[in-house]
Amino acid sequence: MARPSPLPPRPPLSRPLFSSQIPSLPPPTPQTEKKQKKEEWSLADFEIGKFIGEGKFGKVYLAREKQSGYVVALKVIFKKKLEKYRFHAHLRREIEIQHGLNHPNVLRLFAWFHDATRVFLVLEFAARGELYKVLRKLHHFSEKRAATYIASLAGALVYCHEKHVIHRDIKPENLLLDIEGRLKIADFGWAVQSNAKRKTMCGTIDYLAPEMVENKAHDYAVDNWTLGILCYEFLYGIPPFEAEDQKDTLNRIVKVDLKFPSTPHVSAEAKDLISKLLVKDSSKRLSLKNILKHPWIVKNADPTGSCCE
Ligand code: ATP
Ligand code: MG
Repeated sequence: MARPSPLPPRPPLSRPLFSSQIPSLPPPTPQTEKKQKKEEWSLADFEIGKFIGEGKFGKVYLAREKQSGYVVALKVIFKKKLEKYRFHAHLRREIEIQHGLNHPNVLRLFAWFHDATRVFLVLEFAARGELYKVLRKLHHFSEKRAATYIASLAGALVYCHEKHVIHRDIKPENLLLDIEGRLKIADFGWAVQSNAKRKTMCGTIDYLAPEMVENKAHDYAVDNWTLGILCYEFLYGIPPFEAEDQKDTLNRIVKVDLKFPSTPHVSAEAKDLISKLLVKDSSKRLSLKNILKHPWIVKNADPTGSCCE
């Protein structure tokens, strides 16, 4: 399943990856910006490999940092597109947040730089691609695989929440898998860094928490709700409140119209965890730390976090 890499295996790192050299975001004044430029990365630092895929704003390529030989994913975003969709602030927030995070289950953003027409993001390469595609192919996951992913997500979210980051858009399309099958949260485009309760409606509708549907203030507990949705989707192959019409989905979410199909492959313990996450009162949802202690997780999750069955 791993994507074949056209690049030779990377040699041992001759210097620490990028951490000591990550250029910080350009400061607001042009004078300091110039000073910072000296340390900045440029396209000349990379050999570009195969095209990986295309998103709304640009293209992603496999690339290798010339000096260390380290393989990365280089996301190329066209400034014209950013302008057209007025996406600058959004991208800046995504960069600021993801750059500050360093956890085994959060996709690293090692560095970023730009030229006249493009912004480049130097990202950790997730060789097994999107979790979404694996889920569609397998239809649903085994309890072991589902529990491993939920435990990885809960661990990553404990870390993010401690840093006051709420992701708000966790869904299979935003989850990538590395070469060992370890889950990586990507796409921090909708994330916020804040202590206060928020009121912006965001996220894909199937994964929205009731407080977001009802446009009420929301906090970290929206991500806990999403873990319940994902756990259900991993095990049954479809999100729990799916409906023909978007309005019906929103109605089902606010009513927490949760039904478990009578499929024998899902245990009572898994259903117990889902029911404790899909709770309307956000203060009563199982905490991330208690997800990690839940009997279904303890019994099924692979402690290495890798899942390649
Ligand atoms: P959107 O524009 O809404 O973010 P997207 O997630 O499909 O859509 P990109 O994030 O630009 O768009 O990614 C384009 C493709 O490249 C996707 O198939 C994605 O899975 C893949 N991809 C993105 N980042 C990486 C990465 N770090 N490692 C491996 N594949 C990646
Ligand atoms: Mg994306």
